[in-house]
Amino acid sequence: MKAVKVKKTKKSCCVACNGENTKTYLMTYPVKMGEKQLDVGRVSVRECLDCGVIKPTQAGQAKIERSTMMFMSLCGGFIDDDKICPF
Ligand SMILES: [Zn+2]
Repeated sequence: MKAVKVKKTKKSCCVACNGENTKTYLMTYPVKMGEKQLDVGRVSVRECLDCGVIKPTQAGQAKIERSTMMFMSLCGGFIDDDKICPF
């Protein structure tokens, strides 16, 4: 068995200043959808304590995507994207 020491995979570094002084928590994350804004609740985000940048974590990003998909299907049809309409 080989114990591979993985290179630091982008742990919890800040995307802006690369600092590791970050904090992860849940927040309501506003997503711009054209003229509308969708507030996605309880999104996991990472905040940099050095420069203040807030970015969704991978899990948070996935949740945002799920929520926007659901939002679009609930609002059905108004989106001006032909691909979304199967008919
Ligand atoms: Zn930073």
